[in-house]
Amino acid sequence: MRVPFLDLSRHHAPILTEMETAMQDVLRSGHFIMGPNVKSFESEISQSLGVKHAIGCGSGTDALLLSLMAMKIGPGDEVITTPFTFFATVGCIVRVGARPVFVDIDSTYNLDLEKLKEAITPLTRAIIPVHLYGRMCDMERLQQVIGNRPISVIEDCAQSIGARQNGKSSGAWGDTGCISFFPTKNLGAIGDGGMIITDRDDLADDLRMLRVHGAKPKYFHRFVGLNSRLDELHAAVLRIKQRHLATWNEARFRIATLYDQALKGLDLVLPAAAPTGMNIYHQYPILAPRRDELHSFLKSAEIEAGIYYPLGLHLQECFASLGYQRGDMPFTEYCESRILSLPIFPEMTEEEVEFVAGTIRRFYEG
Ligand SMILES: *Cc1c(COP(=O)(O)O)cnc(C)c1O
Repeated sequence: MRVPFLDLSRHHAPILTEMETAMQDVLRSGHFIMGPNVKSFESEISQSLGVKHAIGCGSGTDALLLSLMAMKIGPGDEVITTPFTFFATVGCIVRVGARPVFVDIDSTYNLDLEKLKEAITPLTRAIIPVHLYGRMCDMERLQQVIGNRPISVIEDCAQSIGARQNGKSSGAWGDTGCISFFPTKNLGAIGDGGMIITDRDDLADDLRMLRVHGAKPKYFHRFVGLNSRLDELHAAVLRIKQRHLATWNEARFRIATLYDQALKGLDLVLPAAAPTGMNIYHQYPILAPRRDELHSFLKSAEIEAGIYYPLGLHLQECFASLGYQRGDMPFTEYCESRILSLPIFPEMTEEEVEFVAGTIRRFYEG
């Protein structure tokens, strides 16, 4: 049995005709940038996530970059985040000229909030919690740690759309929340796309200017911004997919529960239990002894698995000037050689889950 990591063809099959029609409508309308679908999709997202503003942009990376720009974070500022995330989280901090300050992760793979306290300095302008693998960082505790210090929060929600803590969406807790519609994310476009959500009117105004070269009205530039918009074609497709997101996230949760049961008793660390809704299982990561051997064993059984991430960002060549060394982020470095994400997607069958789990069991038990 061949088990793909993610099967977008299977995922789209039930809504393919609807998607094709929507794409044709956009093509025939001749309206490709900032059209009616973008407008509607922005208001649909702001409603479903319970925030005042949703601002489409070119990618999740740009959502982070635009947030930092809107907050006027730059040289001399420190931004705290995790080294165990996709490159974009940290790349954007360096792009605006600020200094990334790394805090190691805990067993939820998110910022260790105990260690976070010690990393805050008078130069700290913002914190970027990443809700990695779809598991939310504890935002109530994060807010307690920050207290009344003037520190902004930019949530990296690229992997967590639809996750909630006490009923409040990921992305709605911080000053801004940054969403990615990269095709493999839980809500994926048919190319690159992103969105920033916020309750702050001042930031929303500036973000709407920043995504069109800082102009308002057109050709009158208040800031030096970017050209970063969500295309009409993507918005049309995303509007259709968005209606299924809750059902898809529930299906992922069911698959995660099946894995939990089927892998019990093995010498593996399974994802930490989370209060209801706080994990939408973008990934199902395990910590596995002899990870690389297991990875090859799965591959030879035609099961695809993924390594997110093989090297902490504090140790990347391009960030060498920050001065971090091996040993500085012990749990991140432990995960580098043990983490393995198993296949998970809403249409995955029970038989597929059992085949994956059974193959892992065979690897360890012979
Ligand atoms: C995917 C991702 C991003 C970047 O999103 P793009 O849309 O690919 O630019 C940022 N942060 C995390 C954690 C991601 O997984």
